[in-house]
Amino acid sequence: MVDLKGQYKGIKDAVNPAIQEIIENTSFINGPKVHEFQKNLENYLGVKHVIPCANGTDALQIAMMGLGLKPGDEVITADFTFAATVEVIALLQLTPVLVDVNPDDFNIDLEAIKKAITPKTKAIVPVHLFGQCANMEAIMDIAEEHDLYIIEDNAQAIGATYTYSNGNKAKAGTISHVASTSFFPSKNLGCYGDGGAIFTNSDELAHTIRGIVNHGMYERYHHDVVGVNSRLDSIQAAVLDIKLKNLDSYNKARRTAANKYNEAFKNIDEIITPFEYGTPENHVFHQYTLKLKGVDRDGLVAFLNKNDIPCGVYYPIPLHRQKAYEDARYNEADFEVTNQLVKEVISLPMHTELDDEQIAFISEKIIQFING
Ligand SMILES: *Cc1c(COP(=O)(O)O)cnc(C)c1O
Repeated sequence: MVDLKGQYKGIKDAVNPAIQEIIENTSFINGPKVHEFQKNLENYLGVKHVIPCANGTDALQIAMMGLGLKPGDEVITADFTFAATVEVIALLQLTPVLVDVNPDDFNIDLEAIKKAITPKTKAIVPVHLFGQCANMEAIMDIAEEHDLYIIEDNAQAIGATYTYSNGNKAKAGTISHVASTSFFPSKNLGCYGDGGAIFTNSDELAHTIRGIVNHGMYERYHHDVVGVNSRLDSIQAAVLDIKLKNLDSYNKARRTAANKYNEAFKNIDEIITPFEYGTPENHVFHQYTLKLKGVDRDGLVAFLNKNDIPCGVYYPIPLHRQKAYEDARYNEADFEVTNQLVKEVISLPMHTELDDEQIAFISEKIIQFING
C-alpha cells in the first residue's frame, strides 16, 4: 500500500547523517532536534503550539486530558474511522457517542451531530478521514452554540488545507481548540517508528498539555496533575524534520497519483472515485478510497491479491458494532451510511512513489474484474 523504501532512497543522504548525529551527541530524549522540529512544524502549520508526543493515540488522549474532560462527559465522534479515536474516549471513562458520516466525503455528519447533543455533551472529535477535512466551519458553529470543545483528529490529513466559505484558508489541525496527529510510518508525514503531536493556538492549554506529557510536572519533581509519559524521541524528530521539508511535494505526488486513478476510472459506472471539496490542496489523499456499486468487493480483493496488488478495506466494521464499543442506546437506523460504506469501500495503493505504469496496471486489473 505504501513504498517507504522508495521514499527513503530519495532522502537517504540527509537522513543517515541526521540519525548519526543524534547517536554521536546522545541526546536521545528531548534533545535540541525535537525542539527544532516542533518550531518548524509550528511555522509550517501556522499554529502557535505544537507539543510532540509518543504517538497519535496518546495525542488524542492528552488533548482530552488537557481540556479537563471528566468521567461521564459525552464525546461525539464518527462511527466510520480507526478505533483509536473512540478507544481513548472510553479509556478516560468519558462516554463515546458514535454518529453516522456523510456518504460523499466519509466525514462526520452535521445533522447526526446535532441529533446526538445532550446536556452532557462536552466535546466533538471530527476525524479528517483519508486526507480531507470535515466541515469545520459548521462544526465550529455548533460548538459555539452549545459551548463544546472541538478536537480535530488530524492523523490522516497533515498538510491539507481547509477553505472557509469566504475563501480564507487554514491548515488542517489548526481550525479548532486542539488537534492531534500521528507520525506513524505510513501517514503522510511519517517517522521511522512511533510519533505524534498535539496542536493548539491556546497558550493556556499548551502549558497544561506540556505538563501532562511529562508526568504532570510543571516544575521538576512537582507533580500538579496526573500525567503520562509520552515523548517523541530525537531520532524520530530528525527524520520528521527532513520529511517536513518535503511534505508539500509528497502530498502533491499523492494528488497526481489520485488524478491518474480518477482518469482511469472515469467511464466506469460501478466505481465512484473520491469526492473532493474545492481546490486541489484540500485533499492530501492519505487513502485513495473508491466506492463500488454492484461489484463483489471481496471477490475484487481476492483478485487483486492474486495479481500481487495490495489493497485495503478501511474500515470493514463500523465502530458501533465493535464488541468493545457496543451500546444499547445505538439504533441501527442511525448508521445507515456507515453500514453501507463498510460493504462498498476499497482503498488502492497510495504513496509518494507510485508511477504511471503501476497505476495503469492496478486500474486495468480492477476494470478487467468489473467487466468480467
Ligand atoms: C493512525 C491514526 C490514529 C492513531 O495514531 P497512532 O500513531 O497509530 O497511535 C488515530 N486516529 C486516526 C484517524 C488514525 O488514522
